[in-house]
Amino acid sequence: MEKPRDAGAPGTASDREPDEVDGAGVAVGIEQLRNLWTLVDTLEACFYVKDVDGRYRFVNQSLAAAFGVPAEQIVGRTDDAFIDTARSVVLDTDRTAMRGEKVDIDEQVYLRNGECRSFRTVKLPLFDSDRRVLGLCGISTDITAQRRAVEQLVERNALLDTILANVDAAIYLKDAQGRYLYANQPVLDLYGRKLEDLIGRTDRDLMPADLAARVTEYDNAVLAGGGEEVREETIVGADGCKHHFRSRKIPLRLPGQPTCLIGFSTEITELRRLRIRLEHERITDSLTGLANRTMFESTLEEQLLMATLGGTWLAVVIIDLDQFRFINNNYGQGIGDQVIQLVSQRLQQCDVALGNLARLSGDEFAFTLPGTVSVEQVAQQVEQIRAHLGQPYGVLHQPLHLSFSAGISLSLGGRCNAAELLGRAEAAMYSAKDSGRDQYRFYSPELGGAVARRVELERDLRAAMGSDEFALHYQPKMRRDGSVAGFEALIRWNRPGVGLVGPDNFIPLAEQLGLLLQLGRWVIEQACRQIADWRNAGLGTIPVSVNLSTSQLTSAALPDFVFDLMRAHGIGHGCLEMELTESMMMADPDLAIAILHRLRGGGVSLSIDDFGTGFSSMAYLRQLPVHYLKLDRSFVKNIAHDEKDADLCAGIMALAHKLDMHVVAEGVETRAQHQTLAECDCDLFQGFLFSRPMQARAATEFLRQPH
Ligand code: C2E
Ligand code: MG
Ligand code: MG
Repeated sequence: MEKPRDAGAPGTASDREPDEVDGAGVAVGIEQLRNLWTLVDTLEACFYVKDVDGRYRFVNQSLAAAFGVPAEQIVGRTDDAFIDTARSVVLDTDRTAMRGEKVDIDEQVYLRNGECRSFRTVKLPLFDSDRRVLGLCGISTDITAQRRAVEQLVERNALLDTILANVDAAIYLKDAQGRYLYANQPVLDLYGRKLEDLIGRTDRDLMPADLAARVTEYDNAVLAGGGEEVREETIVGADGCKHHFRSRKIPLRLPGQPTCLIGFSTEITELRRLRIRLEHERITDSLTGLANRTMFESTLEEQLLMATLGGTWLAVVIIDLDQFRFINNNYGQGIGDQVIQLVSQRLQQCDVALGNLARLSGDEFAFTLPGTVSVEQVAQQVEQIRAHLGQPYGVLHQPLHLSFSAGISLSLGGRCNAAELLGRAEAAMYSAKDSGRDQYRFYSPELGGAVARRVELERDLRAAMGSDEFALHYQPKMRRDGSVAGFEALIRWNRPGVGLVGPDNFIPLAEQLGLLLQLGRWVIEQACRQIADWRNAGLGTIPVSVNLSTSQLTSAALPDFVFDLMRAHGIGHGCLEMELTESMMMADPDLAIAILHRLRGGGVSLSIDDFGTGFSSMAYLRQLPVHYLKLDRSFVKNIAHDEKDADLCAGIMALAHKLDMHVVAEGVETRAQHQTLAECDCDLFQGFLFSRPMQARAATEFLRQPH
């Protein structure tokens, strides 16, 4: 193959005479050529001519600037001197041009100085008159800056795409007709569609008509109002489930474009579920599923309003389990919960229709009695409910008998609000409890004051625990020969601002509040101390009895506690006595009897207190390991005048003696009573006739005196 002719002598456009390029075979006038070279030199693009060997024959200033070398140092040299030709495509494109083809390409050029530049290059073959290739002529425009800008744009778009695809929110663009123009991945996932499948569709194509209409209505409001709005929306997804969103939508007005709508929707389905659950929990009792106090009060408020408007009345009833604490203490919380659930079921299945049934707290339920028209009717319904609840419960191996106290308040003409009405029913219920439980009470205005007093008492009593406000007073028990057989320790409370308070005024409340176990321990300890003091003072072994409470008789830990104290104070058998009533054993007779046996085995003497006021079954007494019967003072009261009472007492004493028990008569106030009792063979006597309960120091004096 013939070698192509030389493209011409080396040189730059400006330092060469134009006529010298005649060899290029281009017939132009000198003046024109001069102008052309000047023009070429001032071009922003790189202009160059290479010969068939790839040597530069002509270069303009722009190429010199791109290579960073003066033009004369380029001419005559090949690209290898300036370009990393292994990584650049210049040689390939040169070859293409040299084959006679036009090259039009965007190329990356790696310069020797380490720079990489992008060029838009056009290379044309140069022919001689015989159409033989002489070389090439190239124009390369530096597009590095534009390229970088494009790259940055692409990068930025990719970033935006990544953000849009990965944000938790659904982001979308709709036109004024509601057609989707754009949607990010969460939207596509929600509708289970590809972007191209979604674009152009409206919400009507995607979800049920009613929901779509609501969304569209919202969209239109935003478009019309022009402002930004936040709302909650419900949408049905491809999964067929309802999804809830909190949406913010903004009208988007771009210059020269029709207004469209951009929306950001965050899914709040879980949050809503949680919110609903919390709301449900706020007004529901978790154990029974009944309404709780909050709910009860708010619906009661509505009912009251209706009653006021209708000119009718409303009865609010609070019903409370008696001695529930003992079920919890003895059988455990699990059984306690079961009992509450069963009571709740019974209330719901009751023949009497209850309005607004709720569990207010632990063992306290409340309801209204709709449609009642008289106090008698209310009373009768409450009794019916109490009887229904009073049927035995099958939670344990044996049927569990429960009793209930109820308090009733009536709204007459809507003069009080729900909380007051409830408070009144509560006051009436406490009054029923205080009067011996297992009964109902209507609220009366006097009870209002009682409630306030009770609240104060409760506060003071709690504060008194662990303080030195309590003291034991001692009342002697006398033998027939007039000697002191021992003392009964009776608790007193020196209540600040009130003075000495007797046990009847605070023991039942302490029991209700669960404080009596602690207080009872203190009493036993004090009594042991007193026995030791009297012994140490040389007064001999003086027995002291303490009164127990129900909570102590259901505490299996009591015997060991007592034995430890007896050991610590050197107290022998028969010196410490304990008094209990029959009713105290009722909470859990088996446990109580077991505790009593242990106490007796450890040397504690036991008495049945207030005998004759409880169930007083002699047959039952036989099972009890007790030493003494304390005949209640109600028997003693009339004994001197009432023969029947005297006969009864004589009978009780004879029986007691047969059962190996001694009898102590309580409340002996007169000589006549004393004498009659003595004739009935009574063993010991206690009462004001001999002494009132007295402080320890006075009791010590009493011991020292001859009787
Ligand atoms: P109780 O065990 O039957 O105690 C006898 C109560 O009769 C005492 O009342 C006593 O002061 C009173 N009394 C004694 N002799 C006569 C009398 O001749 N005529 C009259 N009218 N009353 C007499 P007190 O001290 O007010 O105690 C009342 C009840 O409080 C006690 O009845 C007992 O059940 C209970 N109690 C007293 N101390 C304690 C204690 O430490 N723990 C517990 N759990 N209960 C206690
Ligand atoms: Mg007693
Ligand atoms: Mg008594």
